[in-house]
Amino acid sequence: MKDRYGREIDYLRISLTDLCNLRCIYCMPPEGISKLQRKEILTFEEIIEIVTAAASLGITKLRLTGGEPLVRRGVTELIRALRAIPGIRELTLTTNGLLLPEMAQDLKAAGLSRVNISLDTLNAEKYSRITRLGTLDQALNGIRAAQQAGLSPIKINTVLLGGINDDEIPALVDLTREHSVELRFIELMPIGCVVPFGPEAYIPASTVLERVPALQPLENARSGVAQLYALPNAPGRVGLISPLSCSFCSECNRIRLTADGYLKPCLHSDKEILLRGKHGDALTEALKAGICAKPQAHSTLSANERSDAGRNMNEIGG
Ligand code: SAM
Ligand code: SF4
Repeated sequence: MKDRYGREIDYLRISLTDLCNLRCIYCMPPEGISKLQRKEILTFEEIIEIVTAAASLGITKLRLTGGEPLVRRGVTELIRALRAIPGIRELTLTTNGLLLPEMAQDLKAAGLSRVNISLDTLNAEKYSRITRLGTLDQALNGIRAAQQAGLSPIKINTVLLGGINDDEIPALVDLTREHSVELRFIELMPIGCVVPFGPEAYIPASTVLERVPALQPLENARSGVAQLYALPNAPGRVGLISPLSCSFCSECNRIRLTADGYLKPCLHSDKEILLRGKHGDALTEALKAGICAKPQAHSTLSANERSDAGRNMNEIGG
């Protein structure tokens, strides 16, 4: 279905839980969050009903996220059920990767198309500092498990943190020389109650091109919201995602479903539409209303201009 500005909305991102086994400094407060009660979280039956209605309106692509989607018990069964919904052609998942060693094969067998795995650094000490609870080895084992299970092409999400991981840009880009991955650098977003980063942390994605001048723009230069580049003769590629320095609202094709059952037409708006409790025509109409409520663009974001998301990132899913 098209929204009011002619954008074809075919992508639904679903937050399965607000819980996480990490506490990344840009996403969650150190003490964690006041977690949603179990009864507040959408059941799998409710998610399947919403996705079925969304598919009837033209949603073809799903991404499961969170919090950490792999900590939601039964996620593999949910994937199997979502894949069977007529009209759903692609089902992906964003994860910190820690649980992939034990889950990747089953996720693939259930119909998961591929994964995005978050990795902000190749330095073990820094990884523990950024995620507060995890180890680099756990994340790297997760990436290996995804590769072995054939959940590819694997995309690696790296949040650019000026003064923290920007010194590693060349080393991270170097991963694409050997591995056929898409390494995506994402600008830090001022959203939710995250650590109050100073302006130096908000570096533009174009910094990557300054630090690695050998990167060349690819002919087919877009992958979703990422602008694509590659090193000469490298099997992997590099994506730059610039929500701050170069907003991509005019091409936004997505809506979001929160774990507690609200449709979020725009990541950076607190306008939400309750879907929980609606069925049949009422559910379809609420979804249409959500798609029509997508703003043309969100307000500008910068170190001093915070997102109006109204929630922490772990409650929305990115
Ligand atoms: N737990 C999973 C993970 O970390 O991949 C999925 C949920 S997480 C909220 C989804 C993505 O949002 C991750 O790639 C994470 O790095 C990114 N993210 C979280 N907070 C962010 C922020 N303040 N700015 C930019 N990206 C952020
Ligand atoms: Fe958890 Fe992902 Fe947020 Fe990190 S970015 S705290 S892994 S939800």
